[in-house]
Amino acid sequence: MRNTSVAELPVLPLRGMMIFPGMLLHFDVGRQRSIAALEQGMMNDQRIFLVSQIKDETEDPGPEDLCEVGTIAQVRQVMNLPGENIRLLVEGESRGVIRQMLQTDPFMKASVQICRDRKPRSRADADALVRTAQDLFESYALASQRVSQETVESIRSLEAPGDLADVLAANMLSKREERQEILNELNPMRRLERICVILMRETDMADTEKQIQARIKKQVEKNQKDYYLREQIKAIQTELGDQDDAEIAELRQRMEATPLNEEARGKCEKELDRLGRTPPGSPEFALSQTYIEWILDLPWGRETTDNLDLGRAREVLNRDHYGMEEVKERIVEYLAVLQLKKDLKGPILCFVGPPGVGKTSIVKAIAEALDRKFVQMSLGGVRDEAEIRGHRRTYIGSIPGRIIYGMKQAGTMNPVFLFDEIDKMSADFRGNPAAALLEVLDAEQNNAFRDHYLELPFDLSKVMFITTANSMETIQLPLLDRMELIEVPSYTEEEKLQILKRHLMPKQILEHGLKAGSLKISDAIYRTMIEGYTRESGVRTLERTAAKVCRKAAVYMLDHGKKTMTVNAAMLHELLGAPRYHREEPEKEPRIGVVNGLAYTSVGGEMLEVECTAMPGKGQLKLTGQLGDVMKESAEAAFSWVRAHSQELGLKDDFYKDIDVHVHVPEGAVPKDGPSAGVTMITALASALTGQPVRQTVAMTGEITLRGRVLPIGGLKEKTLAAYRAGIKTLVIPEENRKDLEKIPEYVLKCFDIIPVREIQEVLNTALIRK
Ligand code: ADP
Repeated sequence: MRNTSVAELPVLPLRGMMIFPGMLLHFDVGRQRSIAALEQGMMNDQRIFLVSQIKDETEDPGPEDLCEVGTIAQVRQVMNLPGENIRLLVEGESRGVIRQMLQTDPFMKASVQICRDRKPRSRADADALVRTAQDLFESYALASQRVSQETVESIRSLEAPGDLADVLAANMLSKREERQEILNELNPMRRLERICVILMRETDMADTEKQIQARIKKQVEKNQKDYYLREQIKAIQTELGDQDDAEIAELRQRMEATPLNEEARGKCEKELDRLGRTPPGSPEFALSQTYIEWILDLPWGRETTDNLDLGRAREVLNRDHYGMEEVKERIVEYLAVLQLKKDLKGPILCFVGPPGVGKTSIVKAIAEALDRKFVQMSLGGVRDEAEIRGHRRTYIGSIPGRIIYGMKQAGTMNPVFLFDEIDKMSADFRGNPAAALLEVLDAEQNNAFRDHYLELPFDLSKVMFITTANSMETIQLPLLDRMELIEVPSYTEEEKLQILKRHLMPKQILEHGLKAGSLKISDAIYRTMIEGYTRESGVRTLERTAAKVCRKAAVYMLDHGKKTMTVNAAMLHELLGAPRYHREEPEKEPRIGVVNGLAYTSVGGEMLEVECTAMPGKGQLKLTGQLGDVMKESAEAAFSWVRAHSQELGLKDDFYKDIDVHVHVPEGAVPKDGPSAGVTMITALASALTGQPVRQTVAMTGEITLRGRVLPIGGLKEKTLAAYRAGIKTLVIPEENRKDLEKIPEYVLKCFDIIPVREIQEVLNTALIRK
């Protein structure tokens, strides 16, 4: 049964809102007729009829502007707001339907039918519907996430379908029309069914919404991430770009400030352009950059002014180098020509001599005398052309060759450039470095030297090239043709003494932080240092020995709190240990078949014994001891001479028929070569075959012809010094070498009987003890 009682109530139109029974509503009232209606309501039992306008925009609604169904409500609170407005709190009681409008002014008043919900006909139907609605709402709440857990729970407690429908409508419907529709529905079951339909729709919608949201969120997130990453890349690129731009700009600036030649400038420009287009940080970028830097690092146009003051040159050369008179004089001549001719075209100087005789250091002195920069490149072991000329840029990790590297190091276009050990350079499948070197040394070509890496012409014509070699025999011929050889001979003991005393020791004393004059060393001690601890043509070991003395002396003086110290024989022994070499006393006793020969090797002069024995055999000549071809031939010539002169020697004509002869040069590990052992071989053979002993105090050197003539040899000074060191008393030399004796110091010559000879007979007469 529908409760259908009627009440006369003041009507208050609601704009854009509505209230369900059982719910509270706050709203403000400002319109004149509404205020009047409220006042009327307050005077009765505080009940008013709240009903929505059909159109929100209607300012002053009349009865025709109002919905039919509204809510009868109890006013719970009235609050006057500033101005005319009043704020109300009302609670909905029940639905109401306007039956008749009783008045419209000063407020609307109507007779309203009060519609309370009827009890449902079937309790079970109602319960099922309620449960359905509650479940649907729960799903909706879950899907929409717009409903609080509390609301869900409070809804679970509602049992009446009508009330549930109203609460649900109030909670989930936002459109006024929909809400009004629910309000209009007076049948609670139908109302809740309607709500269920809406709930389903809304849940679906919420789900879809959620999916869309998720998609959007994802999209947004991705967009955001992309955006963020892109921004980061941009930032990084800007940063790098700025840097690279700065780097490129700096290179360009440097290029503009450098007096490059035309081709180099072109190459640089091209490379800089390419650099601008290359992604920074890429390997290509670094390669281009390195290439440009190499070009710009070269000493374009930078030159030192030559100091051609000959007096000063002599002074500088003399200051650090004792002796070497010929070398120094040649250098001074060279500088004089340079001064007059003003160009360097001409042969390249090549200093030839054993290690440690000061070749390198005199070249340094030349650079100093000229006020030029000094660079040095060792050619020892260089076999690849690329070391001289570089690798093409297509090779990974390619760099310029050592010439260009040296020029960069020098920092000027006109340094003194020393090629060390030009005789130790070899060739292999990677090309011939000598050919490249020839181009470098050739004054006609080297104004446009092309390095494979740089691929542009670089002017080397102002460079003063000087080379050194240990022995001229192994210098490749084309190179040899280009060079003027200057021999730097080994030093005599006396020269070494002076070098040690005047240069090496003072230098080492300073280098070890000692005071000049703090070490007192007599000549005799110096001599012991030379003779007892070194055996060399130069002074390298001697310099190391001097360093060792200083090192040990420094420790000794600190230990003993001394400022100066005298190095006597005992002290030297303490500092350096026992002497390593002893002056060899020659075998005094004459021996058969053993002769002292003298050789000139790459490390200086050396005394070599030649041994010979005869044994039963068939006339063969056997040679051992690592003899080179020339030396072998020389031995064969010697044997032939002996056979041809058997009568003179007192041998049978066919003495050789039933013997073999064996010639051996000891120290088999050392390769020996050269023709100058000819006289030694004949003497050894003659002694072995005739049984006449050889004087061991005699040493000899000389090439022979088949007829027995003695020809001159090289390296007389070195050989003489070797004989001197060996304690030889009689020195047999070719007559034609007599002139070379001038170069040998007096004190050395004094020790010998020197026998210059023309014929082999004279040699035999001197060396053999005739029976
Ligand atoms: P090389 O190049 O001939 O092998 P170095 O020039 O390296 O020899 O010389 C080795 C050391 O001996 C250097 O310290 C050098 O100064 C010194 N030296 C060589 N000869 C002399 C000399 N005549 N006077 C002074 N010092 C010398």
